[in-house]
Amino acid sequence: MDTLITKRLSKNFGGIKAVDEVSITVKKKTITALIGPNGSGKTTLFNLISGFYEPDNGKVLFLNKDITNLNSHQIANQGLVRTFQIVKIFRNLSVLENMLVAPKRDYGDSFIKTITNFKKSIKEEKEAYDYTNDLLNLLELSHLKDEYAGNLSGGQLKLLSLGLALMRDPEILLLDEPVAGVNPTLANKIFDILINCRDNFNKTFFIIEHNMDVVLDFSDLIYVMNRGKIIAEGPPKEIFSNRGVIDAYLGVD
Ligand code: ADP
Ligand code: MG
Repeated sequence: MDTLITKRLSKNFGGIKAVDEVSITVKKKTITALIGPNGSGKTTLFNLISGFYEPDNGKVLFLNKDITNLNSHQIANQGLVRTFQIVKIFRNLSVLENMLVAPKRDYGDSFIKTITNFKKSIKEEKEAYDYTNDLLNLLELSHLKDEYAGNLSGGQLKLLSLGLALMRDPEILLLDEPVAGVNPTLANKIFDILINCRDNFNKTFFIIEHNMDVVLDFSDLIYVMNRGKIIAEGPPKEIFSNRGVIDAYLGVD
C-alpha cells in the first residue's frame, strides 16, 4: 500500500526551481529517507507535502486521497504529521502528563456523538492510556513518567518530543533531520525506536537526514535530491554505489 505519493510536484522561488517535478512514493510501514546536498529542495518538498507551501504544479496523494489543496491543519488531522508542529513541552508537567495533553488527531467527532458513544469513549480512553504507556516503554521513558519534563536531559527531551508526535497517532511522520547534533549512541537509539514503531505500531516515516551512517543502517528506501530533482532512488546499498549520487555530494564538498 502506498501511503504518500507526489506527482510532478513543483515550486519556484523567484526563478529558482526549488522543487522541480518531483514524483515519489512512500510505502506503508517503511522508513523512507530523503537525502541530498544543502539547498537541493528537501525542506521545500516537506513544506509542499504538509501544506505549509502551495505547489505551483503537481499533486499530493495521501492514502489515495488528493490533499494538494488542504491546509496544514487539515492534513495533520488526516494523519500526515510533521514533527515541528508538536514540539511544545510543558516543563512543569510530568512526562506522562505531557503525553496525555499532547495534541490528538481530531477525527471530526461531534460532542453529541461522543456522549452517545459513552461506553465506546471509555474504552477508547483506556486504549489511549495503554497506548501512552506502550509508547513510554518503547521510548525507554517509563521510569521517568512522573518526573517533571523540566528535569529531563537533552536526549530524553528529544525522545519525549518524538513521543508527543506519536501521541497524535499519525499514519506517517515527516521528520526533518531528527538526529542533527545528536551523539551517535542516541542517534542509533532514536532510529531503533523508529524501527520499533514501524514494526509494532505500523507507522510510516519519511525522513530528511544528513547522517549517512543511520540512513545506510536504518532506511528501507532512499530518494536522493539535487537541484530540486530526484536523481536516484533505491535501497541503501544501491544508492551508496551510485555514481550520480556520489558526484552530487562531491560537487558540494
Ligand atoms: P534543503 O532543505 O535541501 O537544504 P531547501 O528546500 O531549504 O533545501 O531550499 C531549496 C532552495 O529553495 C534553495 O535555493 C533555497 O534558498 C530556496 N528557498 C527555500 N525556501 C525558500 C523561501 N521561503 N523563499 C525563497 N527561497 C527559498
Ligand atoms: Mg533543509
